[in-house]
Amino acid sequence: MSEIITIANQKGGVGKTTTAVNLAASLAVAEKKVLLIDADPQANATTSLGFHRNDYEYNIYHVLIGAKKISDTILKTTLPTLHLVPSNIGLVGVEKEFYDSETRKGRELILKRKIDEVKKEYDYIIIDSPPALGPITINALSAAHSVIIPIQCEFFALEGLAQLLNTIRLIKKTINPKLKIKGFLPTMYSGQNNLSKQVFADLTQHFKNKLFKSNDDEFIVIPRNVKLAESPSFGKPVILYDVKSTGSQAYQHLAQAILAS
Ligand code: ADP
Ligand code: MG
Repeated sequence: MSEIITIANQKGGVGKTTTAVNLAASLAVAEKKVLLIDADPQANATTSLGFHRNDYEYNIYHVLIGAKKISDTILKTTLPTLHLVPSNIGLVGVEKEFYDSETRKGRELILKRKIDEVKKEYDYIIIDSPPALGPITINALSAAHSVIIPIQCEFFALEGLAQLLNTIRLIKKTINPKLKIKGFLPTMYSGQNNLSKQVFADLTQHFKNKLFKSNDDEFIVIPRNVKLAESPSFGKPVILYDVKSTGSQAYQHLAQAILAS
């Protein structure tokens, strides 16, 4: 059975896309069949895998308005078992369509229904979501079995978290009772930075049981690593850009933890 995981945090720049792309690629390298769905109008996951707007005709927007099937939009990537549903800036229009639509009821479940048509072909479906708690993120959370919440190890890291957790609770109560928090993922951690250490200490205090652990029982923390920031400009996940980098190792550990769960 396939497992559907949404990467969510309404704050921008916390490492959602980096996590979605590199977790998906690490799972694919571990020979799992993976579908990465880019559900952010900024389309950063799409560009991170080397695709540009002229490389594809249809994208997640066409899926969400009901005009196309997911299978009409799927792109093959350089990793044989990693497929991508691309996004495009046109996706911003979807929110308006949702509100204008006469069949408002059930619009939170459009993505879930579309995923249902292809899910048996994949071991993992990873959804990258936009930096907002609007209809797209609601769709992404309603379609998922679980959510990974990247937390940037910087000032104000936990700001807004209560709102995200409330949204998750509400979705669980009304639309998707199965939804679980898979884990909180500290990102951009820097051992030299006291603030980073403080955020990590806060996370271990509040969410100890919801942090990922590696095989050797260490908490998984994504370090600040320049290779993670560079690899998107080469259109590659970090595992194909610098497999030995600390960033790549950390995402491989995360993939191992997911495979073991
Ligand atoms: P989001 O999707 O939450 O907006 P991104 O994954 O796009 O966040 O990350 C924001 C920026 O930080 C990007 O330029 C990305 O390359 C960079 N970045 C993300 N994670 C790391 C990391 N661990 N080390 C260094 N740079 C990172
Ligand atoms: Mg992003």
